[in-house]
Amino acid sequence: MQNEIILYISIILLGLMIGSFLNALIYRLKSGDSIVTERSKCPACNQKLGPVDLIPVFSFIWLKGKCRFCKAGISWQYPIIEIITTALFVIGYYYFGLTGELIAFWVLTCFMIIIFTYDLKHYLILDKVTIPGMIVALLFALFIYQLSFWQIFIGAIIGGGIFWFQYAISKGKWVGGGDIRLGLMMGIFLGWEKLLVALFLAYLIGALFAIALLIGKKKGMKSELPFGTFLAASAVITLLFGDQIINWYLSLL
Ligand SMILES: [Zn+2]
Repeated sequence: MQNEIILYISIILLGLMIGSFLNALIYRLKSGDSIVTERSKCPACNQKLGPVDLIPVFSFIWLKGKCRFCKAGISWQYPIIEIITTALFVIGYYYFGLTGELIAFWVLTCFMIIIFTYDLKHYLILDKVTIPGMIVALLFALFIYQLSFWQIFIGAIIGGGIFWFQYAISKGKWVGGGDIRLGLMMGIFLGWEKLLVALFLAYLIGALFAIALLIGKKKGMKSELPFGTFLAASAVITLLFGDQIINWYLSLL
């Protein structure tokens, strides 16, 4: 019991640290600064930040969401991503225990959080993320999830193909090239059965958002939605609940 509590606390601390790292990575993928050599600085005043400014979640609360030096507002993205990462790390442990599947879930979730946030902010899915992601996906598919060749191969064909098709007929207006590579990556680590679940969820979430935005009149029909954001969220949901969703669906037939 006590060991279990220590384990949960360790996972929470790990989640907070990784979440904070993902925030820095998302920022630097845009700015081009190195994640290794450059120290974090305030985007408004360029003041180098100290450890006291960089404690996940707590710094944001303590500094009341403002830079300690210039009082510029700090984006809510920072604490939200830290909390989401931590929550998913804990949920992952709860579901998978200390297994290889947990490691795969944590790593793939990190990729999906980067894609989720970056596409939401910049309407772009970076090759710098999806191409290493495909390699990682293939390793997990083969050695952790132990998917068959056909599960991976058909998954990749469907995942890449569905977006390639939309890209081709709309000449890149409906989806971007990044969606093709994200679909491919998801097909590889989910296998074709769970990929179908994830695609269904992504279109469902996308449709709900589109309806909500139309009702709120915040966007016109033509403005694009960050579909990579919905795909990334759906991938994480499917990693956790894909088996249950498939079993539930099959029980309806
Ligand atoms: Zn500042």
